[in-house]
Amino acid sequence: MEATITEPAHTLPVTTDYGYNSKIEGEIVVTRVDAALNWFLKNSLWPMPMGLACCAIELMAAGASRFDISRFGSEVMRFSPRQSDVMIVAGTVTYKMALAVRRIYEQMAEPKWVIAMGACASTGGMYRSYSVLQGVDQILPVDVYVAGCPPRPEALLDALIKLQKKVARQPILANLKRDSLPEKLGSLDFKL
Ligand code: SF4
Repeated sequence: MEATITEPAHTLPVTTDYGYNSKIEGEIVVTRVDAALNWFLKNSLWPMPMGLACCAIELMAAGASRFDISRFGSEVMRFSPRQSDVMIVAGTVTYKMALAVRRIYEQMAEPKWVIAMGACASTGGMYRSYSVLQGVDQILPVDVYVAGCPPRPEALLDALIKLQKKVARQPILANLKRDSLPEKLGSLDFKL
């Protein structure tokens, strides 16, 4: 016996006009310029992977298929600071590397953000030694800290979501007038 399919009471018309028609109410999206710009930015945060130690393995795992960072629009890992939006500092920042990390950050275009991934990047971790910077926030303005040694890839994704919420709320038009980067970094006390 042949199966019978009952049509729902309300069905979409077979032919639909998908073209833009400003005279039909409901096809117009109204928003603010800053809300639209923030929406574009928060869904395409391209990372600058600053992998310095073991935490970088978890960063790599976040990009692999099991955790799939591309679900959040951040799969495009750039190894050029000029094409990156968010620096993910994953690992121990030694004094030897600190200036290189800061220089790469300075080469990134505004707007830009920083995630400190793991105990080492956030605070120096277990390395209370002469050779390790006690937190990358001594040289960079960190937006999100991720706890753990190492943090799991889910923790990094959680940090990314938190950063997306922060980006969505930022007053981007007002930020165009904010202080220049050298002045901002000049306020950070960092001496080797
Ligand atoms: S926080 Fe732990 S896992 Fe991450 S770089 Fe430091 S020692 Fe390695």
